Amino acid sequence: MSTEFDVVVIGAGPAGYHAAIRAAQLGLKTACIDAALGKDGQPALGGTCLRVGCIPSKALLDSSRQFWNMQHLFGEHGISADNAKIDVGTMVGRKDKIVKQFTGGITALFKANKISPYYGFGQLQPGKRVSVKQHDGSVVELTGKHIVIAAGSDSIELPFAKFDGKHIVDNVGALDFTAVPKRLGVIGAGVIGLELGSVWKRLGAEVTILEALPDFLGATDAEVARTALKEFKKQGLDIKLGAKVSKAEIKNGEVQLTYNDGKADQSLVVDKLLVAVGRKAASKGLLAEGTGVKLNGRGQIEVDDQCRTGVDGIWAVGDCVRGPMLAHKGFEEGIAVAELIAGLPGHVNFDTIPWVIYTEPEIAWVGKTEQQLKAEGVEYKTGSFPFAAVGRAVAMGEPAGFVKVIAHAETDRVLGMHLVGVGVSELVHEGVLTMEFHGSAEDLARICHAHPTLSEAIHDAAMAVDKRAIHKVN
Ligand code: FAD
Ligand code: NAD
Repeated sequence: MSTEFDVVVIGAGPAGYHAAIRAAQLGLKTACIDAALGKDGQPALGGTCLRVGCIPSKALLDSSRQFWNMQHLFGEHGISADNAKIDVGTMVGRKDKIVKQFTGGITALFKANKISPYYGFGQLQPGKRVSVKQHDGSVVELTGKHIVIAAGSDSIELPFAKFDGKHIVDNVGALDFTAVPKRLGVIGAGVIGLELGSVWKRLGAEVTILEALPDFLGATDAEVARTALKEFKKQGLDIKLGAKVSKAEIKNGEVQLTYNDGKADQSLVVDKLLVAVGRKAASKGLLAEGTGVKLNGRGQIEVDDQCRTGVDGIWAVGDCVRGPMLAHKGFEEGIAVAELIAGLPGHVNFDTIPWVIYTEPEIAWVGKTEQQLKAEGVEYKTGSFPFAAVGRAVAMGEPAGFVKVIAHAETDRVLGMHLVGVGVSELVHEGVLTMEFHGSAEDLARICHAHPTLSEAIHDAAMAVDKRAIHKVN
């Protein structure tokens, strides 16, 4: 079998599989290499996202939400669900089945698109060659007119809290607990800490989240962060801000933590510890000597705004390069690079990448926050609308949160949309569309929204920008 390709992709996560499939659609002979194995020890395509990230975390968030709602929401609907029980094995098994369905889906898509998969660790060699150390120990060398590096990212490990896979874990371990831990400690109140902390809290764990920074979700709109923090505290998530952890010792099957709260050293004993302090580019061992591809100080592959590494024909996309570590950012970069390789225009608009945190309430945003606009000296106006005044949200028993639209003070162009509440992971795309089409708050306000829907919060928030919201006093 020929090992010469038009495009060789290293990594079959969201960024890599999008690049490979789009390249193949455009008639390019494509190979894609991935080193990962699934829980069954077999090669599993789809990257962090499908195996141990986006999809399995959402499967557990959805299962745990059913349990939480049974205990906390059903009563007000007049439904009693006494003696609700959890079978963690079944819940995790359901998650594994979903993972298998989706990783298998990528294998099928590769086959349908005639992409050659290689299972093993790829290393870029000088001269647009990639050596692949396959799982059986054999090495195969591929050449490509273009190479796309999509190696993704790995969890950051703290030197004093090394992962042992049993007591101290990252996302991989926390998606696979075999029982609900009585006490779960989490280091880092970021996206993973909040999502996976919520899963185990809903299932009955006592969850304490230790966050080093004094501000909660600092990159998020400040009002959204305040509202979310209040709701998380109501749910019993114990979030300690400004807590700097210095020690984590495993003793007698427990993890003993020492942290400083700004005043004094404190201790915390937990059964399991999830360390979720960010992720780093997976660039270890990826580049042989003399490829010319450069890494920056954070170990990310250096690229320009079109994902070119500076070495002719070598591109890099997704978590292993600059920008937000989000699957959909990787999707768009993968597609753009394949199109650029095929001589088409390819572009990713970083200004309209949405963010979603899948907690309860959900948090979502697109564009600038008020904090950013103030710092940039941009004049703006805002309009907000609470879900407590949206008939559908109240009927659902989910009145927490609000939508905020930010528009330019003079042009009225939408500069950002910030949402916290039920279903906002879907609603945020109205903001994305409006911004992508350079729409104004008035455009949004004049669009007919079905009644009764959650989207009416956006309609009234857009009207509130000009102080003409109908369902509140402006
Ligand atoms: P990856 O998905 O990391 O894929 C890279 C692939 O390359 C891997 O399969 C790896 O095995 C392989 N690889 C690496 N080096 C080599 C090599 N040298 N040779 C061969 N193969 C190699 N993002 C969202 O947008 N929404 C979410 O809801 C979300 N939830 C998440 C939840 C968790 C718990 C985690 C950890 C992450 C989550 N993310 C989410 C982030 C998302 O998973 C990543 O942004 C996304 O997977 C990055 O895609 P990628 O293709 O760049 O890299
Ligand atoms: P993160 O950057 O979201 O949060 C890490 C948190 O840990 C930060 O608040 C940081 O201040 C804190 N921290 C860092 N060092 C610390 C220390 N020593 N002690 C205490 N706190 C410390 O990172 P994450 O939660 O690990 O997630 C990694 C990436 O995965 C995210 O950047 C995100 O892009 C992606 N992700 C996305 C989603 C989603 O889109 N819903 C879900 C999960 C993960």
